Amino acid sequence: MENSVLTVAKFGGTSVANHDAMSKCAAIVAADNGIRVVVVSASAGVTNLLVELAHTAMTPQQRDGLIEQVKGIQFAILADLGQPKDVADKLDTLLMQLEELAHHEELLHQGELKDALLSLGERMSSLLFSEVLNQRGVTARNFDVRKVLRTDSEFGQAAPQLQSIADAAQSLMTPELADTVLVTQGFVGADDQGRTTTLGRGGSDFTAALLAEALHADVCQIWTDVVGVYTTDPRITAAARPLPELSFEEAAEMANFGAKVLHPATMEPALRQDIKVFVGSSREPEKGGTWIMKDCTHEPPYRAITRRKEQVMVTVKTPQMVHAQGFLQSVFTIIAKHNLSVDLVTTSEIAVSFTLDNPANSVSERLNRETLQELREFCEVEVESGYDLITVVGNNMHSAAGVSSKIFASINAFNLRMICYGANPHNMSFLVDEKTSGEVVTVLHRALFE
Ligand code: ASP
Ligand code: MG
Repeated sequence: MENSVLTVAKFGGTSVANHDAMSKCAAIVAADNGIRVVVVSASAGVTNLLVELAHTAMTPQQRDGLIEQVKGIQFAILADLGQPKDVADKLDTLLMQLEELAHHEELLHQGELKDALLSLGERMSSLLFSEVLNQRGVTARNFDVRKVLRTDSEFGQAAPQLQSIADAAQSLMTPELADTVLVTQGFVGADDQGRTTTLGRGGSDFTAALLAEALHADVCQIWTDVVGVYTTDPRITAAARPLPELSFEEAAEMANFGAKVLHPATMEPALRQDIKVFVGSSREPEKGGTWIMKDCTHEPPYRAITRRKEQVMVTVKTPQMVHAQGFLQSVFTIIAKHNLSVDLVTTSEIAVSFTLDNPANSVSERLNRETLQELREFCEVEVESGYDLITVVGNNMHSAAGVSSKIFASINAFNLRMICYGANPHNMSFLVDEKTSGEVVTVLHRALFE
């Protein structure tokens, strides 16, 4: 192993959706001796079912219906594996835990129970995938990530504790890697009392990057169902094309501003340890993918366009703001107090506007009556929705001549709101009416990339 490239490979939900998909992943692992750690998501659809069980009040019969769906997905894989007894027994044990948690009286009220339930998706898929590898002749073992992935106790959105993770990974995982591939769970962790936690939806990418960092890996592969990161979402325009390379900064901007390919936190560990990240399709590994790294061969002014839907724009105004001291501070104190994360801010003499990410089931409840009331105590507040946030990601965007004029010239037919340069040279963002956002991205893509 001395000379090979130590690689952590993560396979997403669609890549481990069934036995067929898992077999393609197994071929990738078998072909690359550098892959010593495999991180899997739950089989596609399973986490959604578990989330529904954990968050929705329903009758016991409805609960059983959802549990049956989960079982159907996992039993189909077990059947394709030929029902090996030891695997079947372990799966049964996990499914018994699942039933018990899914019917627990306190489930809807206790984060600890919810996370224990949510973790079962990855615990089942990793069990099954290690058997797929074994049947292919790869020596592999299912490894419980909770032994190493220490987090705080913020159930549902737990934060990793880097030093503990590094210590545990090096003492418990590293010695095994010489002759065994460890197949472990994404998304799942444990706090210092051993209670199961989760990292937030889509957290398996983050797990892979954290383990790569802890193990001093050279490469972190993210295998998904697309051939890498695209210039923009191919569902918006068919002209979108995969990018051969991206810098860490660009990738982080893209993830933050709505590109769905990577979990936004994934780049942090990669950046800290300078680990190369690869994104590719487990269905078509021969097509290559995107390499994300520190130094790219090209640093073009425009790399990609992202769109984040369902943005809310809040404008606060006070006639007294002219020369008023402390107005901004008061506004942002309230925002901070209510834990709102603000993306864009513009100010004028008498008003401040800012945008909030407002996807269904998230921040919307946080911009609640209380927040608005506190703001209204000292200013006028206007809340507008129906906007999408478009971001152009690239390099030297604030200094290179003509970079922004090319952007604006191409879309001058549209009404843009809140045009902002990021606090770094890698992005430029604006809001547009959600009805025109697809067209704006299409036109912009043509001007910048075609
Ligand atoms: N299974 C988890 C989810 O669906 C984590 C992941 O897939 O990354 O959110
Ligand atoms: Mg995922």
